[in-house]
Amino acid sequence: MTEPSAQAELLIAGGGIGGLAAALALTRQGAPVQLLEQAQAFTEVGAGIQLGPNVVRVLQGWGLQSALEAVAAWPQQLQARSALTGEVLARLPLGADIAQRYGAPYATVHRADLHSLLLAAVQSQGLASLKLQSVVQSFEEEPTGVRVSCVGENSAAQTLSAQALIGADGLWSRVRTLLLKDAPPRATGHLAYRVLVPQKILPHALRCQDVMVWMGEHMHGVQYPVCGGDWLNLVVLTESQLPADAQGWDLPRSPDAVAQDLRKALRGTCSPLQDLVRYMEGWRVWSLCERGIVQGSHHMAQGHVALLGDAAHPMLPYLAQGAGMAIEDAQVLASAWSERSLAVPQRLQHYAQQRWQRNARVQQRAQRNGQIFHSTGLMRVGRDWGLRSLGARLMDIPWLYGAQLSAGKP
Ligand SMILES: Cc1cc2nc3c(=O)[nH]c(=O)nc-3n(C[C@H](O)[C@H](O)[C@H](O)COP(=O)(O)OP(=O)(O)OC[C@H]3O[C@@H](n4cnc5c(N)ncnc54)[C@H](O)[C@@H]3O)c2cc1C
Repeated sequence: MTEPSAQAELLIAGGGIGGLAAALALTRQGAPVQLLEQAQAFTEVGAGIQLGPNVVRVLQGWGLQSALEAVAAWPQQLQARSALTGEVLARLPLGADIAQRYGAPYATVHRADLHSLLLAAVQSQGLASLKLQSVVQSFEEEPTGVRVSCVGENSAAQTLSAQALIGADGLWSRVRTLLLKDAPPRATGHLAYRVLVPQKILPHALRCQDVMVWMGEHMHGVQYPVCGGDWLNLVVLTESQLPADAQGWDLPRSPDAVAQDLRKALRGTCSPLQDLVRYMEGWRVWSLCERGIVQGSHHMAQGHVALLGDAAHPMLPYLAQGAGMAIEDAQVLASAWSERSLAVPQRLQHYAQQRWQRNARVQQRAQRNGQIFHSTGLMRVGRDWGLRSLGARLMDIPWLYGAQLSAGKP
């Protein structure tokens, strides 16, 4: 484990993509941090992640372009297809085209690769102490900072003090529960079936280097390449009765049982999609949960404590921007932290003021996408007609991809 080289100014609860991004952005600004992760090792689930140009731009700004090039795929187009007939309804050019419009390309990457490159970058900054097996339990505000109680290795209790605490502890955030005192996340009844396979095991016709969104009724699927294009990621999202054991994210069902459920959910879809599902092995299933839309800056920071990533604004994955917003949060938090003439609570408020509306808008758009992607009857006919006639104009999202993050001024 990395030891601190200086007294930490901030404690970060959680070492997922959001927590590591925060540690990197802050240490790049010269702020020493201590990151507390409850798990025994820094890991990420075996699944893919899409990074829009708004996110790639931030990563490039952190000097991660070549690390990203070593692991990412760079799809040339996003295709919207009917899951019922297989028809290509619309295409949005990505690659050089989107890079020219927004200053960075669209990337797709294995989550573990993104997590590892962030971790390596944090470690090379030398200003972060990274502690595994440290579960944040509670915090207390003090006049000049915050006191955090954790349980460490061998159940040893520990108390740490710093100027600020950042809750980057994900959907089920303990820091959020203590700060906002709100109810736990709600299950949406939507399930995400996920799988990753090497492209070489697939017949040529099923291999794919583009992002492809299959839209049906009450379901949609998204496939894209990861690991430099060598692997194919597929996620299929359905609306079903939750199995009785649906408590966590990675439901305890055997891959065969999951594949069987999925094949049932895909009855009536076109044969290219069904063929793809049949060839993919090792399915896992997640129950998707959500919380309300962020309502104001007080939902992201109060006093010496701020929330970041899924702890602040969990969202349905229908805009593929949850991790992206965590990375943007990290960049804005670090800019706000560098306003050294301000007191800590004001710096955190500036961060929250700059982030909450954008996060709320992305949460709302993700919800709306879910309704559009899963629409039925006349709504579905209208959706397909709209995509056929408006094409890329409907799929491009300039306010999302083109936004310039503010430099930290209120
Ligand atoms: C099916 C699916 C597809 C998705 N696709 C995309 C996509 O294409 N693009 C995109 O940008 N986003 C996508 N997302 C969203 C993205 O996965 C999340 O938004 C992102 O991973 C959130 O990162 P985080 O660091 O905030 O939280 P997490 O990844 O949940 O990390 C939280 C960390 O905190 C630790 N922790 C929890 N409690 C404590 C505690 N008390 N003390 C210490 N540590 C603690 C946990 O162990 C964990 O390591 C997708 C999500 C799903 C479900």
